[in-house]
Amino acid sequence: MMEKSLDPAPKSPASARCFLHPEREAAALCLSCSRTFCRECVTEHEGRVLCSRCMVKGREKAGARRRFLSWAGPAFLGSSGLLFAWIFFYYLGLALARIPAAWHPGG
Ligand SMILES: [Zn+2]
Ligand SMILES: [Zn+2]
Repeated sequence: MMEKSLDPAPKSPASARCFLHPEREAAALCLSCSRTFCRECVTEHEGRVLCSRCMVKGREKAGARRRFLSWAGPAFLGSSGLLFAWIFFYYLGLALARIPAAWHPGG
């Protein structure tokens, strides 16, 4: 009947349907779950097209990552500071070990 050949439908095949609305034609592909969705079901987030489910999931994951960094960050800094201190004292010890041989007070 009424066929629009002007409709671009870039990447998704013509038979693709929205995962949540089978009666609707897919307009976008979620980059996260690789499912096709209609225009209403997807959101563009930081230049990426995501479905509403993956948006929620991504937000949860981001929150978890932030929680992870909140303790991993200081722990990493602490261990790298410890490593730095260890290297510092190692070379300090080397330097101190070499000094008395060349520099003998009261000889
Ligand atoms: Zn998705
Ligand atoms: Zn939909």
